[in-house]
Amino acid sequence: MALVTGASRGIGKAIALELGKQGFVVAGTATTQAGAEGITSFLAEQEIAGEGYCADVGSNESVEELMRALQNDCGAPAVLVNNAGITRDNLLLRMKENEWNEVINVNLNSMFRLAKACLKPMTRARWGRIVNISSVVGSSGNPGQSNYCASKAGIEGFTRSLAREIGTRGITVNAVAPGFIATDMTSDLPENQVQDMLKQIPLQRLGRAEEVAAVVRFLTSDGGAYVTGETVHVNGGMYLA
Ligand code: NAP
Repeated sequence: MALVTGASRGIGKAIALELGKQGFVVAGTATTQAGAEGITSFLAEQEIAGEGYCADVGSNESVEELMRALQNDCGAPAVLVNNAGITRDNLLLRMKENEWNEVINVNLNSMFRLAKACLKPMTRARWGRIVNISSVVGSSGNPGQSNYCASKAGIEGFTRSLAREIGTRGITVNAVAPGFIATDMTSDLPENQVQDMLKQIPLQRLGRAEEVAAVVRFLTSDGGAYVTGETVHVNGGMYLA
């Protein structure tokens, strides 16, 4: 079974679809009951076994409740995709403490909660795949996003460390760092900012959620079995280290 957080829209929805096509039973989360029901209907339309769940990855209690529900319904996840993420952009001088804390909590502390909850059953099974969704700006930095960039750079350090900890148990841990992908997260950006961004992208277009999902598919497939501790960039050449 594959658990995808933030599967109601955007990149998470595309990942849920891709993993379902790969043959996994899929559990996807949204922050509302309506969102969870939307995931259940979407999976059914696609003839994928699975269900939507309502969960807040920023809350210990909510994640514990989610894990109990999964255990009852379909067992422990063999694949965990930590995709849910938020932005609260502001220049640091104007950034409120809650804007900092919310982003770190939802984007980074969620890794601790979910990975920890999934590790025991994966260790017992001696097989597991964890994929954490980072961002190109975790490497490049971005003005107005110090909270978001810190959370994403943290995800990549966490990924490397956990990969070293649990490789002996047959569990791989990788990060995928999307560039500028067309989703709700990027749909509110002013047109001049979009045009400026496009000038920095050699492939001269926004990426599609499906193009991120394809990399997650690879990392969870047999073909990706020897890749661990990596951050795979999917950014049209926007950032090249
Ligand atoms: P999106 O369209 O804004 O969707 C965000 C998803 O996360 C939704 O399913 C949302 O659920 C869920 N979510 C938000 N807060 C949550 C919480 N506290 N607990 C559980 N779920 C929560 O975002 P996206 O563009 O697909 O981004 C997905 C991931 O890719 C994020 O980690 C983001 O940082 C990363 N990323 C995106 C881009 C990009 O250009 N789009 C670039 C780099 C990295 P609801 O529907 O219930 O709100």
